[in-house]
Amino acid sequence: MYSGSKCHDLLMRMEITSDIVEGQQRGYRQGRSFDAIVVGAGFSGLYQLLCLRDRLGLSVQVLEAAEEIGGTWYWNRYPGARCDSESHSYCYSFSEQLWQEWEWSEKYPGPPEIRRYLNHVADKFDLKRDIRLNTRVTSAHYDQAANRWRASTDDGDVYTAQFLITAVGCLSTANVPDLPGLDSFQGQWYHTGQWPHKGVDFRGKRVGQIGTGSTGIQSAPVIAETASHLTVFQRTANYSVPARNGPLSPDFKRWIRENAGEIRTTMRTAVNGHPFLISETSALAVSPAERLALYEKAWETGGLRFRGTFRDLVTSNEANATAVAFLKDKIRKIVKDPATAEKLADIDHPYAAKRPPIDTDYFETFNRDNVMLVDVRADPIERITQNGIRTKGGAEYPLDIIVFATGFDGMTGSLLRMNIRGRDGLSLANAWAAGPRNYLGLQIAGFPNLFTVTGPGSPSVLCNMPVAIEQHVEWISDCIAHMRKEGLTRIEATEESMEDWMAKVNAAANATVLPQAKHSWYLGANIPGKPRVFMPYAGGMAHYRKICADVAARNYEGFTLSA
Ligand SMILES: Cc1cc2nc3c(=O)[nH]c(=O)nc-3n(C[C@H](O)[C@H](O)[C@H](O)COP(=O)(O)OP(=O)(O)OC[C@H]3O[C@@H](n4cnc5c(N)ncnc54)[C@H](O)[C@@H]3O)c2cc1C
Repeated sequence: MYSGSKCHDLLMRMEITSDIVEGQQRGYRQGRSFDAIVVGAGFSGLYQLLCLRDRLGLSVQVLEAAEEIGGTWYWNRYPGARCDSESHSYCYSFSEQLWQEWEWSEKYPGPPEIRRYLNHVADKFDLKRDIRLNTRVTSAHYDQAANRWRASTDDGDVYTAQFLITAVGCLSTANVPDLPGLDSFQGQWYHTGQWPHKGVDFRGKRVGQIGTGSTGIQSAPVIAETASHLTVFQRTANYSVPARNGPLSPDFKRWIRENAGEIRTTMRTAVNGHPFLISETSALAVSPAERLALYEKAWETGGLRFRGTFRDLVTSNEANATAVAFLKDKIRKIVKDPATAEKLADIDHPYAAKRPPIDTDYFETFNRDNVMLVDVRADPIERITQNGIRTKGGAEYPLDIIVFATGFDGMTGSLLRMNIRGRDGLSLANAWAAGPRNYLGLQIAGFPNLFTVTGPGSPSVLCNMPVAIEQHVEWISDCIAHMRKEGLTRIEATEESMEDWMAKVNAAANATVLPQAKHSWYLGANIPGKPRVFMPYAGGMAHYRKICADVAARNYEGFTLSA
C-alpha cells in the first residue's frame, strides 16, 4: 500500500553509509553518530524511523522524552480522552498488511487502544531497538564545518547526525496558565496533557475544571459522574456536536477491510484528510427547510462529519451563520436552565474557527445537580487560593482538585523549547520572534538539513493528522533519498521561498473564517506574549500534497541543495 513515494524503489540501490567513523574523527562519542536523528516517538517519529531505516538504509536514532512510545497518547490519559477522527482513518495507511490485521473496537477509541495500536506497529516493524526513551533533547546545534547536527540530551549525552528531523508534535507542550497562588493550593491539580498514569480518584471531591476546548468538553461529563461536585470555568464558550461513539459492528469492520483502497483514496482526496468528502452544495443554495433537515441528519450522524454538511461553512460568514444558529439552538434545547444555556451559547467565533469539538453528553452534563458553570469572561479568575479559586468579582469556589484543560503551546511550543540553533549560531527563537516562518512547513532558511514534521505552515492540525504525517514523512524521505542518489549533502530553504510560502499561508487563512476566532491556539492566542500568527496552512491537504509534489518534481524548487 506504499504508494506515491519513490523511496521504496530506491532502497536497494542506496549505499548504506555510516557516519560513525567520521564522528569518531571529530571527537564525537562512538555509537552516538547517525545519518539521522528523529526527535519524538509518536505517529510521526515511528513512521519517519521506518522510512529512513528500512527503506533508505540510513542509521537512525529516535530520541523520546517519555518512558513509552505513543506521543499524544502517552501523555493524554485524562477522563474521557478519545480521538475525534474516526478510528478506521486514525491510523497509518502505508501498509496493506497492517491495515488488514488491525481491528479497532470503537468509532473513537481512547488512549489505551491507540497506544496498543502504536505498539503493535512498533513491534511489527521492529522499531523499538532504535528508539531511546526517557531522553529529552535539550539543545540541537548545527555544526557548519562538519555539516552535522549535534543534539544534547537531558541525561548529558550528545548525538550527531547529518539530518535532524523533529517529530515533536503540534500539541505536546502542556500549557498551565500563569495564575497567581497556584503554589499555595492545598488540594491537587493536574493538567490533562500530563495526566497521572494511575488515574485520579474524584469520588467525594469538589473539582474545578478550567477550560472548555476539545479536551474540557470530553472530560467534564466523565468527571461529573464521580465527583461530588464539578465547577466548569468557561472563558470561551464552544460549539460541540455529539460524537455518537460506539462499538464497530462486524459488518463495518469487514467493510473497512474490503474497501481499504477506496477509503485511502478518499482520505487523500479530502480537503482535511478525513474518510469523507465535504458536500459540494452551498449552505445558501438550499431552502431553510432543506438546510435544517441536512443539519439534523448531520447532528444525528454525529462527529466531524457535521463540518462536511456544506462546502462553504468555513469560507463564507453567511453560510457559517446558518450552522451557528443551528448549533446554538441545540444548546438552548438541551440545557434546561436558561441562564446556563445562554452562557454556553454565548459563542464569540464562527463554527469550526476553533478546532471543532465532538462530545458525549457535554451539554447534558449541565443538567446535573452536581455541575455548575462559571463564566470567567464576565468575572475572570483573580487567583488560586489555598482552598480553591477566587474571581475578580470576589466569588470563592472551594475545591479539592483543579483540572487544567487548558491545552498546549501549540505548533511551536515543543520546537522552541528544544533550543535549536542553525547556521552562524542563529537561534530558532530569534528566527521566529515575530511568529513561525518556513517553507512548506518543512524547512527554515538558516537551518540546513533540519526538517519539521507537521511544522507550522503545513496543514497538520486542520487535518486528520495521520494523513498529514504520512505525507510529510514520505516527502522528507524521498528528498533525502534524492540527495543521496545525487551525491548532495545539504538542503536549505531559501529566504525567498519562505517569504512566498508565508504569504500563501496568510492568504489561505484569510480566505476562510478561521482567523476570526480571536482566542484560538491556531493563532497562538492562548499563550501570553506569543505572536499572533495564523499557523497552520488552511489551503487543504490535497492541494498542499500537490504543491509539495510539484516542488519535488521541479528539482526541489525553493531549496538550495549542495554537495
Ligand atoms: C487529546 C488529543 C486528541 C487528539 N485527537 C486527534 C484526532 O482525533 N485526530 C487527529 O488527527 N489528531 C488528533 N490529535 C492531534 C495528535 O497530536 C496527532 O493526531 C498525533 O498524535 C501527532 O503525532 P506526532 O507523532 O506528530 O506528535 P506527538 O504524538 O505529539 O508526539 C511527539 C512526541 O515528541 C516528544 N518530544 C517533544 N519534544 C521532545 C524533546 N525535546 N525531546 C524528546 N522528545 C520530545 C513528546 O514527548 C511526544 O511523545 C489529538 C491531540 C490531543 C492532545
